[in-house]
Amino acid sequence: CGIVGYVGRRGAVDVVLDGLRRLEYRGYDSAGVALVHGGGLEVDKRAGKLANLEAALADHPLPESFCGIGHTRWATHGVPSDRNAHPHRSSDERIALIHNGIIENFGQLRAELEGEGIEFSSDTDTEVAAHLLGREYAVDGDLTEAMTRVCARLEGAFTLLAVAADDPDTVVGARRNSPLVVGLGEDEYFLASDVAAFIAYTTEAIELGQDQIVTIGREGVSIRGFDGVACEGKHFSVDWDIAA
Ligand code: GLU
Repeated sequence: CGIVGYVGRRGAVDVVLDGLRRLEYRGYDSAGVALVHGGGLEVDKRAGKLANLEAALADHPLPESFCGIGHTRWATHGVPSDRNAHPHRSSDERIALIHNGIIENFGQLRAELEGEGIEFSSDTDTEVAAHLLGREYAVDGDLTEAMTRVCARLEGAFTLLAVAADDPDTVVGARRNSPLVVGLGEDEYFLASDVAAFIAYTTEAIELGQDQIVTIGREGVSIRGFDGVACEGKHFSVDWDIAA
């Protein structure tokens, strides 16, 4: 239901949790984060309020990271539970992915992936996208290219964000029939379902168009269509009255 991604110079877990807190008004039943650290992914996800996740993270702090994603879930497929909470990982654990919306053709994709021997660890529609992305990322190690190939196979409404274990400077997002905005800071970039998640840090933003993929990294922001063709998003400044 709420989505946040961050790459920059601040501790990612704090920025991501802060963003999720600012999206709490949307309602949710579970929350989770994934951080890229030392060639691996650190994931913590819990059913219930954000406070549950925060308490768990206070007990078992995650290592310092400057790249991460976070999610608050409003369950549509699979009961609210720790295992159905996002992020979901590919079976090789190289990819973590979060999703708002519904992947309509997940049944057919799940059957295909299970036919290849992939074991699922949740009842969500979302997990097919994590496994597809893991499979495509293994082909060329390029998260943006992999996301482009995955989006070509998905039907329905989705905002997706993903990180890769061995790419500590990149978050890739995609959207169809579901909102996604980019926050432009100084040497830091944000992705979120709503500007409320990052207005404490920047009021400069880009609204992603329909069927677009965005990559944020230390070098900046790049946007392309699901067809792979580079494009520009719509720049805007968040009104300070709204920001305050
Ligand atoms: N359909 C997904 C699920 O049930 C995502 C729900 C959401 O938008 O939070 O896990």
